[in-house]
Amino acid sequence: MTAPSRTNDPEEALDQNHAPNLSYSRINRYLTCPEQYRLYYLEKLRPKVESAGLVFGARIHLALADLFRSGVDPVETFQKDWESLKEVELHYNKRESWEKLKETGVRLLEQFLKAEAPKIRQIESVEKKFELRITLLELPFVGIADLVAQVNGLKTVVDFKTSGSDYEDHEVILSDQLTAYWLADPEAQKVALCVLVKTKEPKIEWHFAERDAERLAEYLAKVQIISEDIHTGKYYKRPGKHCSYCDFLPVCLGDKEKVQETLVRIT
Ligand code: SF4
Repeated sequence: MTAPSRTNDPEEALDQNHAPNLSYSRINRYLTCPEQYRLYYLEKLRPKVESAGLVFGARIHLALADLFRSGVDPVETFQKDWESLKEVELHYNKRESWEKLKETGVRLLEQFLKAEAPKIRQIESVEKKFELRITLLELPFVGIADLVAQVNGLKTVVDFKTSGSDYEDHEVILSDQLTAYWLADPEAQKVALCVLVKTKEPKIEWHFAERDAERLAEYLAKVQIISEDIHTGKYYKRPGKHCSYCDFLPVCLGDKEKVQETLVRIT
């Protein structure tokens, strides 16, 4: 059986319904490697077999969204959902298996319900799409904010992450994604990453941050530069360590057989 969905990146779902746009995901992919951007967004190539880690993250997101929308037990949602993937072919890395991810997901969500959910009050929105028209940019800037709510008494835009390791302080301070979410709701008092860490002893970390006008302007200037480069078709390979986990490595290596074997073009 093949994987059921090709939209584990929620912002990719926005692309399916929207006119041309800019988003944090698009800008980030271009910054990682312009050729990767071209192969993903223009050639519309995708791996035939999806990464188990990405599918896991998407299912955790869905379980949390259902909890915040309608109070449904996220452990039950996740277990049911993950069970349905048992026979689906997914790409597991050396440390992962269907069983291990199931156990990790259950433990993380149980922990979330017990220790983290009580910190969250007055939910304003769940997975809310936003679309900003910014004078500097020719295209709308779109995104999805996972949660806007009071966290520890402050209005916070929260992004949930699943990760194999802890986040470093500098990653949070410099995070473009958090800057983009601040743009989505400038009335927020904080932005936060709530990271569900898939270590042997699963744990949940909160990282809170703020953004000032200078940081917003800096990010928008970067978005403007990248959007102009995209508009004028500046695509080139930017090789590096990230090639090791890039789905498009066979394309860049000219390995046609592997391309046929591993990639598919979506419509
Ligand atoms: S393999 Fe490397 S150079 Fe090629 S698209 Fe991926 S990241 Fe870019």
